[in-house]
Amino acid sequence: MKRADESASEAAEVRRFWQRLGLPGLVDIHTHFMPERVLRKVWSYFDSLGATNDDLIWPITYRTEEAERLATIRDFGVRAFTSMLYPHKAGMAEWLNGWAAGFAHRTPDSLHTSTLFPEAGVESYVREAIEAGTRVFKAHVQVGAYDPADEVLDSVWGLLAEAEVPIVIHCGSGPVPGKHTGPEPVGRVLARHPRLRLVIAHMGMPEYEDFLGLAERYQELRLDTTMVFTDFAERLEPFPRRALPRLAGLGDRILLGTDFPNIPYPYIHQLEALERLELGDQWLRDVCHDNAARLFGL
Ligand SMILES: [Zn+2]
Repeated sequence: MKRADESASEAAEVRRFWQRLGLPGLVDIHTHFMPERVLRKVWSYFDSLGATNDDLIWPITYRTEEAERLATIRDFGVRAFTSMLYPHKAGMAEWLNGWAAGFAHRTPDSLHTSTLFPEAGVESYVREAIEAGTRVFKAHVQVGAYDPADEVLDSVWGLLAEAEVPIVIHCGSGPVPGKHTGPEPVGRVLARHPRLRLVIAHMGMPEYEDFLGLAERYQELRLDTTMVFTDFAERLEPFPRRALPRLAGLGDRILLGTDFPNIPYPYIHQLEALERLELGDQWLRDVCHDNAARLFGL
Protein backbone atom coordinates (compact mmCIF):
# COMPACT_ATOMS: atom_id res chain seq x y z
CA MET A 1 0.00 0.00 0.00
CA LYS A 2 1.13 3.48 -0.81
CA ARG A 3 1.40 6.55 1.43
CA ALA A 4 -0.45 9.74 0.47
CA ASP A 5 2.71 11.64 -0.53
CA GLU A 6 3.85 8.74 -2.71
CA SER A 7 0.43 8.62 -4.36
CA ALA A 8 0.53 12.32 -5.20
CA SER A 9 3.94 12.08 -6.80
CA GLU A 10 3.02 8.95 -8.73
CA ALA A 11 -0.09 10.68 -10.12
CA ALA A 12 2.09 13.61 -11.21
CA GLU A 13 4.46 11.20 -12.99
CA VAL A 14 1.61 9.44 -14.79
CA ARG A 15 0.17 12.78 -15.92
CA ARG A 16 3.54 13.95 -17.17
CA PHE A 17 3.74 10.78 -19.27
CA TRP A 18 0.56 11.48 -21.28
CA GLN A 19 0.93 15.26 -21.27
CA ARG A 20 4.33 14.94 -22.93
CA LEU A 21 2.66 12.92 -25.69
CA GLY A 22 0.01 15.62 -26.15
CA LEU A 23 -2.80 13.26 -25.14
CA PRO A 24 -6.00 14.27 -23.28
CA GLY A 25 -5.38 11.38 -20.84
CA LEU A 26 -5.16 7.60 -20.93
CA VAL A 27 -7.68 4.89 -21.76
CA ASP A 28 -7.07 1.71 -19.79
CA ILE A 29 -9.13 -1.18 -21.10
CA HIS A 30 -8.04 -3.76 -18.52
CA THR A 31 -8.78 -2.71 -14.95
CA HIS A 32 -10.59 -4.72 -12.31
CA PHE A 33 -13.55 -3.48 -10.32
CA MET A 34 -15.81 -6.15 -8.88
CA PRO A 35 -17.95 -6.92 -5.83
CA GLU A 36 -15.79 -6.50 -2.70
CA ARG A 37 -15.96 -10.10 -1.58
CA VAL A 38 -15.02 -11.35 -5.05
CA LEU A 39 -12.10 -8.93 -5.18
CA ARG A 40 -10.91 -10.12 -1.74
CA LYS A 41 -10.86 -13.66 -3.14
CA VAL A 42 -8.83 -12.54 -6.14
CA TRP A 43 -6.38 -10.82 -3.78
CA SER A 44 -6.04 -13.91 -1.62
CA TYR A 45 -5.35 -15.93 -4.79
CA PHE A 46 -2.45 -13.59 -5.61
CA ASP A 47 -1.26 -13.81 -1.99
CA SER A 48 -1.25 -17.61 -2.26
CA LEU A 49 0.73 -17.58 -5.53
CA GLY A 50 3.61 -15.93 -3.71
CA ALA A 51 3.40 -18.41 -0.85
CA THR A 52 4.20 -21.37 -3.12
CA ASN A 53 6.49 -19.77 -5.70
CA ASP A 54 9.04 -17.03 -4.94
CA ASP A 55 8.94 -15.84 -8.56
CA LEU A 56 5.27 -15.09 -8.15
CA ILE A 57 5.38 -12.99 -4.98
CA TRP A 58 2.61 -10.60 -5.84
CA PRO A 59 1.99 -7.73 -3.42
CA ILE A 60 -1.15 -5.88 -4.58
CA THR A 61 -0.02 -2.25 -4.86
CA TYR A 62 -3.50 -0.70 -4.73
CA ARG A 63 -5.17 -2.76 -2.02
CA THR A 64 -7.59 -0.03 -0.95
CA GLU A 65 -11.32 0.60 -0.76
CA GLU A 66 -13.17 1.07 -4.03
CA ALA A 67 -13.66 4.82 -3.59
CA GLU A 68 -9.95 5.30 -3.07
CA ARG A 69 -9.08 3.12 -6.06
CA LEU A 70 -11.39 5.23 -8.21
CA ALA A 71 -9.83 8.43 -6.91
CA THR A 72 -6.38 7.02 -7.73
CA ILE A 73 -7.16 6.08 -11.30
CA ARG A 74 -8.84 9.44 -11.90
CA ASP A 75 -5.81 11.23 -10.44
CA PHE A 76 -3.72 9.41 -13.02
CA GLY A 77 -5.85 11.01 -15.72
CA VAL A 78 -7.37 7.77 -17.00
CA ARG A 79 -10.33 9.06 -19.04
CA ALA A 80 -12.01 5.69 -19.42
CA PHE A 81 -11.46 2.29 -17.84
CA THR A 82 -13.27 -1.02 -17.47
CA SER A 83 -14.56 -3.16 -14.61
CA MET A 84 -13.25 -6.56 -15.68
CA LEU A 85 -14.93 -9.35 -13.73
CA TYR A 86 -15.33 -13.03 -14.47
CA PRO A 87 -16.90 -16.19 -13.02
CA HIS A 88 -14.98 -19.34 -12.12
CA LYS A 89 -18.10 -21.53 -12.34
CA ALA A 90 -21.62 -21.69 -13.74
CA GLY A 91 -24.40 -19.62 -12.19
CA MET A 92 -22.29 -16.57 -11.35
CA ALA A 93 -22.04 -14.50 -14.53
CA GLU A 94 -25.54 -13.05 -14.44
CA TRP A 95 -25.11 -11.91 -10.84
CA LEU A 96 -21.73 -10.36 -11.68
CA ASN A 97 -23.31 -8.57 -14.64
CA GLY A 98 -25.97 -7.13 -12.35
CA TRP A 99 -23.28 -5.73 -10.08
CA ALA A 100 -21.31 -4.39 -13.06
CA ALA A 101 -24.37 -2.59 -14.44
CA GLY A 102 -24.73 -0.82 -11.08
CA PHE A 103 -21.04 0.04 -11.05
CA ALA A 104 -21.25 1.46 -14.58
CA HIS A 105 -24.28 3.51 -13.58
CA ARG A 106 -22.54 5.09 -10.59
CA THR A 107 -19.19 5.40 -12.43
CA PRO A 108 -19.88 7.27 -15.65
CA ASP A 109 -16.21 7.37 -16.68
CA SER A 110 -16.07 3.56 -16.69
CA LEU A 111 -16.92 1.47 -19.76
CA HIS A 112 -19.85 -0.76 -18.82
CA THR A 113 -18.37 -4.27 -18.62
CA SER A 114 -20.08 -7.69 -18.59
CA THR A 115 -18.94 -11.28 -18.55
CA LEU A 116 -20.09 -14.71 -19.69
CA PHE A 117 -19.70 -18.43 -19.06
CA PRO A 118 -20.63 -21.51 -21.16
CA GLU A 119 -23.92 -22.40 -19.45
CA ALA A 120 -27.64 -22.60 -20.09
CA GLY A 121 -29.10 -19.12 -20.57
CA VAL A 122 -25.85 -17.48 -21.60
CA GLU A 123 -27.22 -16.23 -24.92
CA SER A 124 -30.15 -14.49 -23.26
CA TYR A 125 -28.12 -12.73 -20.53
CA VAL A 126 -25.47 -11.68 -23.06
CA ARG A 127 -28.22 -10.25 -25.27
CA GLU A 128 -29.70 -8.41 -22.28
CA ALA A 129 -26.29 -7.04 -21.34
CA ILE A 130 -25.75 -5.72 -24.88
CA GLU A 131 -29.21 -4.14 -24.85
CA ALA A 132 -28.42 -2.57 -21.46
CA GLY A 133 -25.46 -0.78 -23.05
CA THR A 134 -22.50 -3.00 -22.24
CA ARG A 135 -19.43 -1.61 -24.01
CA VAL A 136 -17.06 -4.53 -23.43
CA PHE A 137 -17.06 -8.12 -22.18
CA LYS A 138 -14.45 -10.05 -20.24
CA ALA A 139 -13.93 -13.78 -20.72
CA HIS A 140 -11.43 -15.71 -18.61
CA VAL A 141 -10.58 -19.07 -20.14
CA GLN A 142 -7.99 -19.98 -17.51
CA VAL A 143 -10.03 -19.16 -14.38
CA GLY A 144 -13.26 -20.44 -15.94
CA ALA A 145 -11.49 -23.60 -17.21
CA TYR A 146 -13.70 -23.80 -20.30
CA ASP A 147 -13.11 -24.24 -24.01
CA PRO A 148 -13.94 -20.93 -25.71
CA ALA A 149 -14.98 -22.98 -28.75
CA ASP A 150 -17.59 -24.82 -26.64
CA GLU A 151 -20.68 -25.08 -28.83
CA VAL A 152 -22.85 -23.45 -26.14
CA LEU A 153 -20.93 -20.24 -26.87
CA ASP A 154 -21.14 -20.40 -30.65
CA SER A 155 -24.31 -18.30 -30.97
CA VAL A 156 -22.97 -15.93 -28.28
CA TRP A 157 -19.82 -15.20 -30.29
CA GLY A 158 -22.06 -14.66 -33.31
CA LEU A 159 -24.17 -12.18 -31.37
CA LEU A 160 -21.11 -10.29 -30.11
CA ALA A 161 -19.53 -10.19 -33.57
CA GLU A 162 -22.71 -8.75 -35.03
CA ALA A 163 -23.04 -6.18 -32.23
CA GLU A 164 -19.32 -5.30 -32.66
CA VAL A 165 -18.81 -5.40 -28.89
CA PRO A 166 -15.18 -6.09 -27.93
CA ILE A 167 -14.37 -9.01 -25.61
CA VAL A 168 -11.18 -8.91 -23.55
CA ILE A 169 -10.24 -12.57 -23.31
CA HIS A 170 -7.61 -14.05 -21.02
CA CYS A 171 -6.63 -17.08 -23.08
CA GLY A 172 -2.82 -17.21 -22.93
CA SER A 173 -1.15 -19.75 -20.66
CA GLY A 174 0.26 -17.21 -18.16
CA PRO A 175 0.71 -16.90 -15.25
CA VAL A 176 -0.21 -20.60 -15.15
CA PRO A 177 -1.58 -22.70 -18.03
CA GLY A 178 -5.16 -23.94 -18.03
CA LYS A 179 -6.77 -26.87 -19.78
CA HIS A 180 -8.02 -24.69 -22.66
CA THR A 181 -5.47 -21.85 -22.75
CA GLY A 182 -3.17 -21.14 -25.68
CA PRO A 183 -3.80 -20.01 -29.25
CA GLU A 184 -5.45 -23.17 -30.56
CA PRO A 185 -8.95 -23.00 -28.95
CA VAL A 186 -9.29 -19.27 -29.71
CA GLY A 187 -8.11 -19.97 -33.25
CA ARG A 188 -11.08 -22.31 -33.67
CA VAL A 189 -13.46 -19.58 -32.46
CA LEU A 190 -11.96 -17.09 -34.92
CA ALA A 191 -12.18 -19.53 -37.80
CA ARG A 192 -15.96 -19.56 -37.26
CA HIS A 193 -16.30 -15.87 -36.33
CA PRO A 194 -13.54 -13.97 -38.15
CA ARG A 195 -15.06 -10.52 -37.40
CA LEU A 196 -15.24 -11.12 -33.64
CA ARG A 197 -13.63 -8.23 -31.77
CA LEU A 198 -11.48 -10.23 -29.39
CA VAL A 199 -8.87 -8.36 -27.39
CA ILE A 200 -6.21 -10.82 -26.29
CA ALA A 201 -5.36 -9.99 -22.67
CA HIS A 202 -1.67 -9.80 -21.73
CA MET A 203 -0.84 -10.07 -25.47
CA GLY A 204 -1.37 -13.80 -25.01
CA MET A 205 1.50 -14.20 -22.54
CA PRO A 206 3.52 -16.41 -22.86
CA GLU A 207 2.40 -17.42 -26.39
CA TYR A 208 3.06 -13.89 -27.66
CA GLU A 209 4.13 -14.77 -31.18
CA ASP A 210 1.25 -17.17 -31.85
CA PHE A 211 -1.25 -14.50 -30.85
CA LEU A 212 0.53 -11.86 -32.94
CA GLY A 213 0.10 -14.30 -35.82
CA LEU A 214 -3.65 -14.47 -35.16
CA ALA A 215 -3.81 -10.65 -35.11
CA GLU A 216 -1.98 -10.51 -38.44
CA ARG A 217 -4.55 -12.90 -39.86
CA TYR A 218 -7.75 -11.46 -38.34
CA GLN A 219 -8.25 -7.72 -38.81
CA GLU A 220 -10.61 -7.31 -35.82
CA LEU A 221 -8.28 -9.01 -33.36
CA ARG A 222 -6.55 -6.74 -30.87
CA LEU A 223 -4.12 -7.25 -28.01
CA ASP A 224 -3.86 -5.54 -24.64
CA THR A 225 -0.57 -4.69 -22.97
CA THR A 226 -1.59 -5.76 -19.47
CA MET A 227 1.58 -6.49 -17.42
CA VAL A 228 3.58 -7.25 -20.57
CA PHE A 229 7.07 -5.68 -20.86
CA THR A 230 7.20 -4.87 -17.11
CA ASP A 231 10.19 -6.06 -15.08
CA PHE A 232 7.85 -8.51 -13.34
CA ALA A 233 6.68 -10.12 -16.60
CA GLU A 234 10.07 -9.93 -18.32
CA ARG A 235 11.59 -11.96 -15.50
CA LEU A 236 8.94 -14.68 -15.89
CA GLU A 237 7.86 -14.59 -19.55
CA PRO A 238 10.07 -12.21 -21.54
CA PHE A 239 8.62 -10.74 -24.71
CA PRO A 240 10.89 -11.86 -27.58
CA ARG A 241 12.92 -8.94 -29.00
CA ARG A 242 12.64 -10.38 -32.51
CA ALA A 243 8.87 -9.76 -32.39
CA LEU A 244 9.19 -5.99 -31.82
CA PRO A 245 8.78 -5.12 -35.54
CA ARG A 246 5.50 -7.06 -35.57
CA LEU A 247 4.40 -5.05 -32.53
CA ALA A 248 5.16 -1.86 -34.45
CA GLY A 249 3.22 -3.17 -37.46
CA LEU A 250 0.14 -3.83 -35.31
CA GLY A 251 0.34 -0.40 -33.65
CA ASP A 252 -3.28 0.43 -34.50
CA ARG A 253 -4.56 -2.68 -32.67
CA ILE A 254 -2.65 -2.69 -29.42
CA LEU A 255 -4.47 -1.25 -26.43
CA LEU A 256 -3.24 -0.10 -23.04
CA GLY A 257 -4.30 -2.44 -20.26
CA THR A 258 -2.73 -2.61 -16.81
CA ASP A 259 -4.57 -4.94 -14.38
CA PHE A 260 -4.98 -2.02 -11.97
CA PRO A 261 -5.40 -2.40 -8.99
CA ASN A 262 -4.08 -5.98 -8.81
CA ILE A 263 -0.50 -5.24 -9.80
CA PRO A 264 2.72 -5.93 -7.89
CA TYR A 265 4.35 -2.59 -8.91
CA PRO A 266 3.28 1.05 -9.36
CA TYR A 267 1.04 1.96 -12.34
CA ILE A 268 3.70 4.23 -13.87
CA HIS A 269 5.92 1.20 -14.40
CA GLN A 270 3.58 -0.21 -17.08
CA LEU A 271 3.82 3.07 -19.00
CA GLU A 272 7.59 3.23 -18.68
CA ALA A 273 7.76 -0.40 -19.84
CA LEU A 274 5.94 0.60 -23.04
CA GLU A 275 8.11 3.68 -23.54
CA ARG A 276 11.36 1.74 -23.24
CA LEU A 277 10.38 -0.46 -26.21
CA GLU A 278 11.41 2.60 -28.26
CA LEU A 279 8.64 2.16 -30.80
CA GLY A 280 8.16 5.93 -30.91
CA ASP A 281 5.76 8.57 -29.62
CA GLN A 282 3.09 7.92 -32.26
CA TRP A 283 2.97 4.25 -31.27
CA LEU A 284 2.60 5.28 -27.62
CA ARG A 285 -0.18 7.75 -28.46
CA ASP A 286 -2.07 5.07 -30.39
CA VAL A 287 -1.62 2.41 -27.71
CA CYS A 288 -2.22 4.55 -24.63
CA HIS A 289 -5.21 6.45 -25.93
CA ASP A 290 -6.14 6.76 -29.60
CA ASN A 291 -6.81 3.11 -30.49
CA ALA A 292 -9.22 2.63 -27.59
CA ALA A 293 -10.81 6.05 -28.12
CA ARG A 294 -11.58 5.00 -31.71
CA LEU A 295 -12.79 1.52 -30.71
CA PHE A 296 -15.17 2.84 -28.07
CA GLY A 297 -16.10 6.12 -29.75
CA LEU A 298 -14.80 8.26 -26.87
ZN1 LIG B 1 -6.70 -8.90 -15.47
